[in-house]
Amino acid sequence: MAAHDAWALVCRLFAGGTPVLHASLSPRELGTLPALGRAVRPAALDQRFLLCPYCQQHRAQVWGDGRGGRTCHCPECGPVSVAADDGAALALDEDWLRRKLRLALSIESRDGIDALGDGVWRLGDSRCSPVLLARDLIRLWREPALLERVRIASGTIRVVTPKPRETRGAPFGPGVEWLALEDRFTLYGGGISFLGATGAPPAPQASDPTTPVHGPFSADFRWVILPNVWPSGPIRLTEAQAAVFRSLWSFQGEPMSGERIMRRAGLKSDKPIDVFKVKARDKGKPEVERRLAAYHALVLTQQRAGLYSMPCAAAPSLAPV
Ligand SMILES: [Zn+2]
Repeated sequence: MAAHDAWALVCRLFAGGTPVLHASLSPRELGTLPALGRAVRPAALDQRFLLCPYCQQHRAQVWGDGRGGRTCHCPECGPVSVAADDGAALALDEDWLRRKLRLALSIESRDGIDALGDGVWRLGDSRCSPVLLARDLIRLWREPALLERVRIASGTIRVVTPKPRETRGAPFGPGVEWLALEDRFTLYGGGISFLGATGAPPAPQASDPTTPVHGPFSADFRWVILPNVWPSGPIRLTEAQAAVFRSLWSFQGEPMSGERIMRRAGLKSDKPIDVFKVKARDKGKPEVERRLAAYHALVLTQQRAGLYSMPCAAAPSLAPV
């Protein structure tokens, strides 16, 4: 379906937030460009760095090859010569996206669109609910204050973001309705149409134990989804690690002593990090190091005071406004 493919490309360009090279688009994606019309435009890309034309996995520095041509120094492929049109790029017209999303959600507030920070916008009010558009759902988990800035006493905040891998259901909990850009909208007649105007988001699917239920954590805290740490899917935790995260989560972002956290987790050691430390015999095991990286990404330590907190657990309704 052409409209579906075209919308998927819009979502991908928005999620990436930077121009992409023509060379990195699939033939199917290239085929959607006519349908996208003014939603995309040619863009200038920083020519000192390019997506490696060979593997298209790494952005690498480009050097003159001394003979009038150019070479991309890919960390994996080594030097790869760059053809003249490898630099041709296109970008999403994000103003277009925001304007059309406002129309799709019947946002008629007179005030314009507010940029709340890098990659987060307040689009306006849709039926008395503030609507946020964010490039990255994880950003809102990490900075719950962004939600607080738009919260009103009565009413749900609607949050529109591209879908991170593996996230379904209601990643934000009560008071926030999440609308996945890919699933809840589509291209229609040169604009954007909202699919399904009412209703709560579908309940998390109980059949998949990795589905995030508490922020980035699964219902039993044995899985955590952190695309910045491990883009390929959920990270499996040990039982003790799950207990520590569950305990930290229960303190709703408040700094607590290590002892109190560990007591609530039902564990003997004094510090939350103890159950994440990589033992000598596990050095180099990716799953073990991934868990430690997850700990570092989620837990704030005040070393001197011996306090630990997990900002993503701050309950939006309890955080100071
Ligand atoms: Zn490469």
